[in-house]
Amino acid sequence: MLRLMDTRARAVEEIVPSTPRFLRVYACGPTVYRYAHVGNLRTFLLTDLIRRTCEMHGVQVQLVQNITDVGHLQDDTNLDADGEDKLLAQARAENKDPFAIARFYEDAFHRDLGLLGIRPADAYPRASECIDLMLRLIADLLAKGHAYVGGDGTVYFSAESFASYGALSGNKLSELRAGHRADAAELAKGKRFHADWALWKRAGEHREMTWDSPWGRGFPGWHIECSAMSLDLLGDVIDVHTGGIDLRFPHHEDERAQTDCYAGKEVVRHWVHGEHLLFEGRKMAKSTGNVVLVSDVVDRGYDPLALRLAFLGTRYRQQANLSWAEIAGAHKTLSRWRASVAGWAEEPSKPMCAEVQQGILDAFSDDLDTPRALQVLRAFEKDESMPAGCKFETFAWADRLLGLDLARDVGRAPAALPAGAQDLLDQRAAARTTKDFAGSDRLRDELASLGVLVKDTPGGQEWTSTGPPGPG
Ligand code: AMP
Ligand code: ZN
Repeated sequence: MLRLMDTRARAVEEIVPSTPRFLRVYACGPTVYRYAHVGNLRTFLLTDLIRRTCEMHGVQVQLVQNITDVGHLQDDTNLDADGEDKLLAQARAENKDPFAIARFYEDAFHRDLGLLGIRPADAYPRASECIDLMLRLIADLLAKGHAYVGGDGTVYFSAESFASYGALSGNKLSELRAGHRADAAELAKGKRFHADWALWKRAGEHREMTWDSPWGRGFPGWHIECSAMSLDLLGDVIDVHTGGIDLRFPHHEDERAQTDCYAGKEVVRHWVHGEHLLFEGRKMAKSTGNVVLVSDVVDRGYDPLALRLAFLGTRYRQQANLSWAEIAGAHKTLSRWRASVAGWAEEPSKPMCAEVQQGILDAFSDDLDTPRALQVLRAFEKDESMPAGCKFETFAWADRLLGLDLARDVGRAPAALPAGAQDLLDQRAAARTTKDFAGSDRLRDELASLGVLVKDTPGGQEWTSTGPPGPG
């Protein structure tokens, strides 16, 4: 199975689904007050790579990714004293309703994911539509003594009430110091300890996007949305939780405290973080002024999937330093591969190369070593002893992991179902009509071993093929 670097364990660990063949994944999503830059998208790609690799191993992935459309969109230091957040500021700047701003950039986010070949999550809960869940969670944390109400009605989480606070980031409470201006203001209003954070903020009179609560009209803190939505949609066993490295602290540290205190146990089994994207040597960020959007890439005439290929050239947990020259190089490689794949498709079909298949799947499974996978593929491309038909099938298979749309220019499609799979699907459909569930489960496992994942829907069984079986 897949192994990944676990932030809490500080080691590469095997990802064993808590439910056989079914992995529950939560990914922190975008703050929708501006276009996602390609650095954000590099982080969103991480979960797509995890999903594709798991599916190759016959494991179905349930992915939930939140849309942050309310609340603290950055850590507290970036909020002004009135609790202004970036979405409201942007709404003012564009003279629009904050929800209109949020929906506009949310749509743009989905379009960008599509352009980068990142498959959609199973659910995209919006923070603004999950306020009740958050209120229930906050009430529970208050009842359990992990939270308290400050003087102005703001509800705080008590960091000291969670013994293992700091396990993700290594930041010990004793070493965290009160620092910034906002801290002093909050302490004056009834926050008891500088490392505590707001679960619910009391709103000033003129603030938009506020809700009623038992503690007065206000809005949720930033971290509580991810606890509430992940517990609601995935339950109290979450196999993998992803995000960019900057979310490790305070966002994930605080989220873990809230979630675990509610559930009374460790909920997330593996925290996985993607490193930052730099552009020409500096971290890509709006504040740095070096933001590149997918639309910028397209405007320069490059295929957006060239970005994806450029990202695959560096492992997710290494900083990647992107440049226009690199995007241009990736675009050239992508065009060459597509032309080659189309040419090879014209030749008689041959079985794919098991050794290359093994090499690529091993590289992905080894903590998403995508640079190694690309090396294997490049060496295979140049190997003149390999027949064209074999190259075609092997590249088409590899593309299920790479997601580069390599067969775009091909006249014929690669084999969609491996040999024998249709028979098994038919047998399984028959087993289900006679309510032979043991037989149907056995057939589902047999299909999974062929790389065909079956899902039962009200309209009958649906399948996705991850291609012919992976070696080993
Ligand atoms: P945001 O929309 O600001 O909440 O960010 C969405 C995701 O992008 C988060 O997981 C961040 O950690 C991540 N992120 C922000 N900046 C970068 C960057 N330069 N490179 C990679 N990921 C980033
Ligand atoms: Zn989050």
